[in-house]
Amino acid sequence: MLLDKFPRVPLAHLPTPLEYLPRLSAELGGPRIYVKRDDCTGLATGGNKTRKLEFSMAAALEEGADTIVTVGAVQSNHVRQAAAAACKLGLRCEVLLEHRVTDPSIYYTDSGNVLLDRIFGANLREYPADTDFDAAMDDVAEEVRAAGGKPYIIPGGASNPVGALGYVNCVIEMLGQFEEQNLDVGHIVTATGSAGTQGGLVVGLKALESAIPLLGIGVSIPRDEQEEKVYALARETADFIGKPGCVAREDVVANCDYVGPGYGMRTDSMNEAVLMLARSEGLLFDPVYSGKALAGMIDLVRKGELGDGDIVFLHTGGAAALFAYADQLQL
Ligand SMILES: *Cc1c(COP(=O)(O)O)cnc(C)c1O
Repeated sequence: MLLDKFPRVPLAHLPTPLEYLPRLSAELGGPRIYVKRDDCTGLATGGNKTRKLEFSMAAALEEGADTIVTVGAVQSNHVRQAAAAACKLGLRCEVLLEHRVTDPSIYYTDSGNVLLDRIFGANLREYPADTDFDAAMDDVAEEVRAAGGKPYIIPGGASNPVGALGYVNCVIEMLGQFEEQNLDVGHIVTATGSAGTQGGLVVGLKALESAIPLLGIGVSIPRDEQEEKVYALARETADFIGKPGCVAREDVVANCDYVGPGYGMRTDSMNEAVLMLARSEGLLFDPVYSGKALAGMIDLVRKGELGDGDIVFLHTGGAAALFAYADQLQL
């Protein structure tokens, strides 16, 4: 009901499974840990952007667009899913790739997500990290228009109120699964970056009057900045769905202690977390987002800081980036 009035194009395999992780839970000796498998959304190796793109792409189609213009890091999972979605819907895809990692290896510049972007035939343009991407995307859109096309700009991570609807939708899905599986959820934990995932989740939880605490684990900027970014998008999204004011500032909580040297840079705790989940549960997490978020969750469980209630870790995907870090992971 909450989302009925918004156009949506089916791209994701939904509902994604909610699975118990018995071996990880036993290894950590704390609460029961579950994983919400948004790595299994099905589009081009899956991930969280697919849920958002169901709404962003529908908006583009409704406007009669024939070309998507979007932005991301060289190893962006968002760009890979947007490029695939554009192919599936018969749209062209113009991509602005940001060089955010210094001294990248050939794996980073040519394998993983960017290899898949090329397979999908996206037109990739490369830019330095200090670029004004809003202006640069406007320029590309203008170029598309000048050539007779109809561009539609999707911001980085599809993190605007339209894209965030995908994670309001995820809350509706999860609350049903918690009830079916009789979970007593103490925390939902997720990686947080461009903020659409956490922003959509917090709006969904509040709009549906759930009291489950949500913890974002940051992967780039300090805590205050990350929380403000999520809060700003959550407020806009709440207005957009007709639930203004449903999110309070204190509903937005991010822990940014696990970023390490910076966005996309390896950390030992990420390395440990990726191997632990692979070897205890046969699951793949990524070096940039879900692996660092997992490292945070593991550390907080070890310290007893997440309490006794069931923990649901939202797996946002990203394993395609593992190949880009072939020389960085210590196995
Ligand atoms: C984009 C991304 C995130 C972060 O989601 P945001 O909505 O940008 O905060 C987390 N994990 C993976 C794998 C991603 O690709």
